[in-house]
Amino acid sequence: MFAAALVLALLLRGNAVVAIAVLFLVFVPIEKLFALRPQRVFRRGLLTDLTHLFVNNLLVTAATIVLVVVAALPLLWVRAYDVVSMLPAEVTIPLAVALVFLGSYWGHRLTHQVPFLWRFHAVHHSIEQMDWVASGRLHPFDSAFTQAVTVLPLFVLGYDAGVFAGVTVFVTLLALFQHANVRLRFPVVRWVVNTPEWHHWHHALDEEARDKNFGLPVVDKIFGTAYMPKGQRPVAFGTTTPVPQHDYLNQLRFPFTRAARGQLAEISN
Ligand SMILES: [Zn+2]
Ligand SMILES: [Zn+2]
Repeated sequence: MFAAALVLALLLRGNAVVAIAVLFLVFVPIEKLFALRPQRVFRRGLLTDLTHLFVNNLLVTAATIVLVVVAALPLLWVRAYDVVSMLPAEVTIPLAVALVFLGSYWGHRLTHQVPFLWRFHAVHHSIEQMDWVASGRLHPFDSAFTQAVTVLPLFVLGYDAGVFAGVTVFVTLLALFQHANVRLRFPVVRWVVNTPEWHHWHHALDEEARDKNFGLPVVDKIFGTAYMPKGQRPVAFGTTTPVPQHDYLNQLRFPFTRAARGQLAEISN
């Protein structure tokens, strides 16, 4: 809890280097003690994923703002009504939370179902060794798209910047946790919040797990995409889309290559 609060404070102050150092100290011992699969801390591709974690933050923030503003232009008249201020105070935060989880679910699901978006999201699914650092492997456009879909309803309804900052930090911490290389199962909680067990299935190569677990377990339950069989673990992680491994610049370039175009049907059908 203390570590989470510290990381949160550091991220809010823009101190990403120290935040990542703290995360290193928190996650590395946990992953060593409770490893799902034994693997070296300095595994292949670690530098690539750290580059994603550092560099993408800035690109994603800029791109998200542009996407939200452009998408919201036709709806700015709704924001003028400031719907949030008309709601009872006790409703505003639960409503924001519900909208965030619905938005992130559908944003993520679209990246699997729209071939053009899958080109970008395939970079995230190229992870073959799961750990907290791997959570950073996201094409900036992919992150920006999902974040924009997530915050757009909040923006249109009149929520302020503080709520967006809170959402971003919460989603980042959850992303780090759900990718961690830990075998721990969390009774009951495993159907309430995203745990490594839950999200690892999203990355599984197993046929039955394809296009499952896009968001919060309860949201996936509602839309019929939940998959977490008892007592089983994924056979392997990855994608058959040929994303270059261990090469940051080529991963950024991948969605614009001929290889990306040829592989679209893999997950989108
Ligand atoms: Zn995905
Ligand atoms: Zn993931």
